[in-house]
This record gives sequence, C-alpha cells and structure tokens, in this order.
Amino acid sequence: MTCWVARTFPDEPPLKFLFLKSPLNVGGVPLTGFPLRLFNYGDRFAPRGKTVVQALLHTDWNFWKDLRQDRTAYEAAKNSLAAEVLERLEAHYPGLTAQVEVTDVATPYTTWRYTLNREGAFMGWVPTPQAMRTQIRRTLPGLDHFYMAGQWVVPGGGVPPCLYSGRQVIQVLCRRDGKKFSTSVP
Ligand SMILES: Cc1cc2nc3c(=O)[nH]c(=O)nc-3n(C[C@H](O)[C@H](O)[C@H](O)COP(=O)(O)OP(=O)(O)OC[C@H]3O[C@@H](n4cnc5c(N)ncnc54)[C@H](O)[C@@H]3O)c2cc1C
Repeated sequence: MTCWVARTFPDEPPLKFLFLKSPLNVGGVPLTGFPLRLFNYGDRFAPRGKTVVQALLHTDWNFWKDLRQDRTAYEAAKNSLAAEVLERLEAHYPGLTAQVEVTDVATPYTTWRYTLNREGAFMGWVPTPQAMRTQIRRTLPGLDHFYMAGQWVVPGGGVPPCLYSGRQVIQVLCRRDGKKFSTSVP
C-alpha cells in the first residue's frame, strides 16, 4: 500500500519494520508486522512538503486472483486494506490519514499484470536459509550458448544482486573464451 501524504519525516529512517500489537489479516494471511518505507531521502519522489509512504505486505496470490474476478469486490478490498493500514500507522504518526492525498494499492495480481511474474512475485525465490545457500547454475543442460542472469538465479532477487548476476555471466563467457575479465567505469 503506497500513499502520498502532505507531510515530511525529516528525522525518520527511510526503512523500518513495524511489529503490530494484533495481526493484520489480509485474505486469510495474518501479518504480524510489515516493512515501512518513507521516501524521505530525495527530492524527486514527491513535491516539496510531501512524502511517499509505502507499506509492504506479503499476501496471498490466490486470494487476490480470485477476488479480481469481481472488480467491485476487488476494489472494495483494496480500499479497506488501505484504510486498515493507515489505521495501524496512525498510532505511530498521528494525523496521517487526514494528510493522505493519493493512495495506490498494488496487489500480487497488479504485479502479475505488469510483469507476468509467477503468482505476482515481486522478487525471485523466497530467501529461505536453504535457498540462500543454493548456487543456481547459469546454464541449462543440452542448451548451448544460453546463459541466465536475473532474479531467478540469485535467490531473493532485487536490483543489486540481479545486476551482479549479469556481471557474473560476462565472467563465465570470458572464461569460456579464454579472455581476461576486466571492467571499466564509464
Ligand atoms: C513493485 C516492485 C517493487 C520492487 N521494489 C524493489 C526494491 O525496492 N528494491 C529492489 O532491489 N528490488 C525491487 N523489486 C525487485 C526487482 O525489481 C527485481 O528483482 C528485478 O528487477 C529483477 O530483475 P531481472 O533482470 O531478473 O528481471 P526484469 O527487471 O523483470 O527484466 C526482465 C526483462 O526481460 C524482458 N522480457 C521478458 N520476456 C521477454 C521476451 N520473451 N523477450 C524479450 N524480452 C523479454 C522484460 O520486458 C524485462 O525488461 C521490486 C519489484 C517490483 C515488481
């Protein structure tokens, strides 16, 4: 849930994790807390005096996919989720709800619609201890000259590891071609 509010947060960290006194239930998933991002570290996210606030909620793909069949119910669920998140944030930032000027609730279905990522995943594999220790090969057996980079070969995904995986593919190609891997700063 993202909103744009008419206030600033000069003394707040840009990312924190909020633990909730009682779980927030979203489509059968009880959330005991969520990361909260305050885009207060640059002047390009919102006009002067305003801030983009984002709560990241891990919810269920099937719940939103099924609900999307009924557009009215889907929109109502998004509105009610935004209201509930703001209610939880009010405890930390009194008056926040009245300062909201724009609200955007992107569900897993939204992410799927834009990216076609499996079940609306916004990153790659869930970074479990086992996944984080697993090395995923950058090639596929029987498919020559094919190399993979991106969020499905670096568990957890995210922009920095994905960029790094592209660099690793170049290293693999250099080794294959007997060339020295080198970099330069543009
Ligand atoms: C809403 C959202 C918020 C996020 N926030 C963050 C964040 O704050 N920080 C962070 O680190 N990560 C974030 N992520 C995750 C991060 O964006 C991804 O992990 C990362 O972009 C994945 O990189 P990638 O190169 O694997 O795939 P992508 O960036 O998806 O690139 C794949 C490219 O391949 C193209 N493509 C697909 N199919 C074909 C085809 N058949 N032929 C040719 N081209 C094709 C696509 O158009 C796309 O350009 C977020 C993701 C989402 C969805």
